[in-house]
Amino acid sequence: MNYFFFYPPGGQYIRGEDRCQVAVSDLAATSMRPPLDLAYMAAMARQAGHRVWIRDYPAEGKSWQDYIRDLQDCKPDVLVMSAISSSFADDMQAFAVAREINPAILTLAKGAPFLEGVEEVMTRHPELDVIIRGEYKPIFQEFVRTGIEDCRGIVYRRADQIVINPPMPLTYALDDFPFPCRALVANERYVRPDTGEPQTTIQAAEGCPYHCTYCLAYQLDGHRIKRRSPESIVAEMECCVTQHNIRNFFFRADTFTANAAWVKALCTQILKSPISGQISWVANSRVDTLDAERLQWMKAAGCWLVALGVELGYDEGLKRIRKGTTCSQAETAMSLLRQAGIKSYGFFMLGFPWERKTEVMQTIEFAKQLRCDFYEFSIFVPYPGTEIYKEMRRNGIAVPDMQNHHHARAGAGTPHLTAEELMQLRKLALRTVYLRPAYLFDRLREMAKDRRAAVNYCRYGMKLLRNII
Ligand code: SF4
Repeated sequence: MNYFFFYPPGGQYIRGEDRCQVAVSDLAATSMRPPLDLAYMAAMARQAGHRVWIRDYPAEGKSWQDYIRDLQDCKPDVLVMSAISSSFADDMQAFAVAREINPAILTLAKGAPFLEGVEEVMTRHPELDVIIRGEYKPIFQEFVRTGIEDCRGIVYRRADQIVINPPMPLTYALDDFPFPCRALVANERYVRPDTGEPQTTIQAAEGCPYHCTYCLAYQLDGHRIKRRSPESIVAEMECCVTQHNIRNFFFRADTFTANAAWVKALCTQILKSPISGQISWVANSRVDTLDAERLQWMKAAGCWLVALGVELGYDEGLKRIRKGTTCSQAETAMSLLRQAGIKSYGFFMLGFPWERKTEVMQTIEFAKQLRCDFYEFSIFVPYPGTEIYKEMRRNGIAVPDMQNHHHARAGAGTPHLTAEELMQLRKLALRTVYLRPAYLFDRLREMAKDRRAAVNYCRYGMKLLRNII
């Protein structure tokens, strides 16, 4: 069979990571990420003997006409999309277009929009045949091996009925999946923001033991962390270097630094590999899972940046979102990163239902004091399926229409702040942290040392200025 995996034409969103859906054009210092989910599924389909194509239309700068031409040329039997809430109507339109070209085509979608109300979605969208519910890798692997009826974790149509198959247990091992099919990805389109060099994402672990009320990670991947073996991760990195000339990596893991022994084992494996010294990488972390020894290993193995979900600048708020961390832990984490010579990327949120301007200003002020190297301020999005979404529904608090609401664009206000106020506060936050004289001085110093970084800092600086002024 012919399988066609794609992100539809339109806005440039971060799609593959279901817990974060945002338009890249609105972000301060982030570039497009490769379609790792499509590449994983394509590798599984190929392994099962099917022909496969991958297209990321927004990243490749391609249009709806290109999409139609591809459908006519490739003649897919199965069309697989990673859908997101913010562009859901357009996403489904892509299936409708394909159905007009080939009424017999099978359309399949994965993504966060399917955590709740699948029957309603299927009823409203007759152009959608199959939904993957939950973590896609084990479900899709079973789908290509067994077909629809015996595949756990999917929802599909049988005649006029909508059938919900039993869920897929989260007992798989990440090492059992094939490496993502990067040979079919336009790898040069996905770059490290500061150097412009190709960068790819490596799925290092999945699942999160914490309970942050706004987060989809544990809804999708469960509370138990599933880690890949260091040998498997490094083998994939070596393949990226030797076959695709990619030397920059983003380790995708809900909590990369949670287990010190695993971090040390992975760093040791990287240091033993022939690619050691030729590669750089970044990872996500929580502020309470860093220490000097872990960071020393990470730095030695090529880590140059750690992204931290600080979220709020007041402890009462951190308790309300059940983050399980404190402002003082965030301060300690930043200071450990500085001592280790690793850059920091601080992530903050604003616009929780109880927040007034006073609380948001506390977060902005705290962010400024932390002196991160890079910042992002996300407008709070109550994703269906999260604890906070359920709480809002229980308490009669309106949830915004996801079609127009994402982390960088408020489609609706909160009980205390209008959408316009949220947008203005986000801009104020970005102006406060990025236009500080000390911050600008530090960046200028770096630019003076590295001309290539200077070009990219200027490019991102211009984009940031357009967004915040
Ligand atoms: S620590 Fe919290 S925000 Fe981070 S992945 Fe886990 S639940 Fe989500």
